[in-house]
Amino acid sequence: MQKKTLIIGGGVAGICLAHQLTQRNEAFNLVDDGKNVSSVVAAGIVHAMSFRRTLLSWNAMPFYKESETFYKGVESTLNTNFFHPLIVRRLFSSPEEALIWKQRLNDSAFQPFLREYSAEDERFGPYGSGCVDGFWIDSKVFISESLHDLSKRKLLLSDTVTADNFNPNTLEYKGIMYDAVVLALGYKSKETPWFFNVPVNPTKGQLLTVNWNNPVENTSLHRKAFALPIGGNAFKIGSTYEWNDTSPDPTEEGRERILNNATSITTDPLEVIDHTAGIRPTTPDRRPVLARHQTYKQLFIFNGLGSKGYMLAPSLAKQLSEAIIDNKPLAEELNPSRFNS
Ligand SMILES: Cc1cc2nc3c(=O)[nH]c(=O)nc-3n(C[C@H](O)[C@H](O)[C@H](O)COP(=O)(O)OP(=O)(O)OC[C@H]3O[C@@H](n4cnc5c(N)ncnc54)[C@H](O)[C@@H]3O)c2cc1C
Repeated sequence: MQKKTLIIGGGVAGICLAHQLTQRNEAFNLVDDGKNVSSVVAAGIVHAMSFRRTLLSWNAMPFYKESETFYKGVESTLNTNFFHPLIVRRLFSSPEEALIWKQRLNDSAFQPFLREYSAEDERFGPYGSGCVDGFWIDSKVFISESLHDLSKRKLLLSDTVTADNFNPNTLEYKGIMYDAVVLALGYKSKETPWFFNVPVNPTKGQLLTVNWNNPVENTSLHRKAFALPIGGNAFKIGSTYEWNDTSPDPTEEGRERILNNATSITTDPLEVIDHTAGIRPTTPDRRPVLARHQTYKQLFIFNGLGSKGYMLAPSLAKQLSEAIIDNKPLAEELNPSRFNS
């Protein structure tokens, strides 16, 4: 029998779930307050590496491949263009990092993602560079086209969900009883009474769009900052990680920090044409949260996507859709009870 789900939150988490439920032909509504400051701000870069320790990101295999297939599928269903193939070039910070990268090239776990060494790699950075396959999602297009599609299908509601208009006992919202309700609220998770004790913390990030006279088309450069070519001479340059400022406004200090970090990539002049800020939902162990509420068993949390939301969301949304529709258990390691021990 078809179940009806209410998704609260129209960021990459909620929207990926909407697409997964659509693919399963399930009934749902998505309600969003229109105040998104994370998924639409994100650079949308997806690749399998965690550069800081030259390791694969958590669950990179299979999440990377699943996300690639997912976004290409949505792009074709919505008849739009937001998926851009990308070579992600890491500029090494030390001879040790260069050496570890070379070891990774011979490691079968890394081989599906890393590009073979080429003489070109020596041209970049003081200690050379290495490349990994990736892509970037034009986040503004992905989010706005997805919401537009939901709106056309009369599935999108515009509202702020609070304890006054939603009853977790009956799963009733605006006179409709739902079979399952998913809270995908990003950093605002603690503002509602239902999962307020799950440690989803705000981490502010700022991004610049600059004009840079550099004829690179499909390669992003990463060291202390990243530079993502988005067409013509325009590049997105970022980003900051700020834990003490939860206002979604860009700051002069953030701009200076990004431009300063960008000197690790280039000393060319960069003309700033835009400056944005957003707030990532992060957890203490940098892992997502995907679980049922302890008391209200048909109420779910989908959160903690941190700085890798565009890679994590498609697979996690699929797992959540299977929990809702097929009653499959959710992975224990994603349950917020892990923070209690
Ligand atoms: C500067 C910056 C750069 C980034 N770059 C990348 C990148 O390159 N690659 C990558 O993968 N990730 C990146 N990220 C991280 C990525 O943006 C996050 O992982 C992701 O957006 C989190 O998505 P979400 O859906 O959980 O939350 P959100 O995007 O915050 O979505 C939550 C939605 O719920 C709505 N909402 C909240 N409360 C309510 C309520 N009570 N009622 C109704 N609606 C509500 C909000 O308005 C919002 O629309 C970046 C983030 C920042 C800030």
